[in-house]
Amino acid sequence: MSGRVGRFAPTPSGRMHIGNVYAMLATWLSAHAGDGSGKILLRVEDVDEPRALKDADKWIMDDLHWLGLDWDGEPVYQSKRTEIYEEALRSLESVRLDDFALVYPCFCSRADLRAASAPQEGDRFLIYPGTCRKLLTEHPDEVRSRLEAGQRHSWRIAVPERDMQGSVVTFDDRIFGHQRFDLPREVGDTVIRRSDGIFSYQLAVVVDDLLMGVNDIVRGRDLLRSTALQIWIRRALVVSGFAKKYGIQRVDSPAYAHLPLIDDPTGVRLAKRKRSLDIGTLRADGVKPGQIIGYCAWLLGVRSSKSQGVHMPDASGPVAMSAREALECFTWRDVRADKSDHILEANWASEFDRRKSGSVA
Ligand code: GLU
Repeated sequence: MSGRVGRFAPTPSGRMHIGNVYAMLATWLSAHAGDGSGKILLRVEDVDEPRALKDADKWIMDDLHWLGLDWDGEPVYQSKRTEIYEEALRSLESVRLDDFALVYPCFCSRADLRAASAPQEGDRFLIYPGTCRKLLTEHPDEVRSRLEAGQRHSWRIAVPERDMQGSVVTFDDRIFGHQRFDLPREVGDTVIRRSDGIFSYQLAVVVDDLLMGVNDIVRGRDLLRSTALQIWIRRALVVSGFAKKYGIQRVDSPAYAHLPLIDDPTGVRLAKRKRSLDIGTLRADGVKPGQIIGYCAWLLGVRSSKSQGVHMPDASGPVAMSAREALECFTWRDVRADKSDHILEANWASEFDRRKSGSVA
């Protein structure tokens, strides 16, 4: 595919860690593989502005520059796009799903929801029991008067009921292969605007990917289920006429690649709040960008390096390299070869001291 458009979509909640760099490198490699016409956009996902960490966007950009992971154009900030998300919500309000509205106000509190449904493991989906969807269908006057009285509410997008058309979403993932999700059973009606007025990640990311022309999405496998929901929201935005309003005619589904995740040496998922593995600490310790890129390339299955124009097979351990050098050796086939989550070795950085190979160490 030519004209690939990928995106870095960091949440500015802290300094990047190795896991973030691994995902960014994969994004960068995916967009630039092939005929070289691809580009990468940078979107700062600060839609939840009150929770964004001041200056984290600047650290992230500085670390990306330092690592040689460049992007095209100016960064886009979700916090500046509220009006666009409002418009998307208004467009969705015009869509009906058989007998009921596709989006509806929800007056349930978190406590009500916890009481009503069993927690789901993994990516924190709580299947909403549909209370306020029924309320709107059965007692529209009550809903109207509660809205007029200014009662606190979120907005949800409905998914089709079981066995209805559209209730199953399928897509092919470059790494995990064919995916099939039953929306009513595995996803449920989802909040797209919170009761404090903040738009949810799920809506913002779909609106942005659509309007920014992103057609190549690379991220962690914990978002596989979200992808099914995002495909549903994307279709709804197209049906509602929202995409057309922005002059978007072609709305093919993007290509998706969901990466295995990375755990720290104790088996705990890497998180930005743990400072020990963040890029700031590594930089202060004298670790070089080529070492970090080489290590992440290794996690992406790169088992060779290019030196003086010659590819050298090298399966004994990571080799320091630049992103451009990694591009020469990267294939999705190698990523697919090992789909298990990775455990970061405690001494990963010292590997390089022993090996001393690679051109940019
Ligand atoms: N901001 C999200 C994150 O940091 C990006 C998720 C996505 O790629 O859609 O996890």
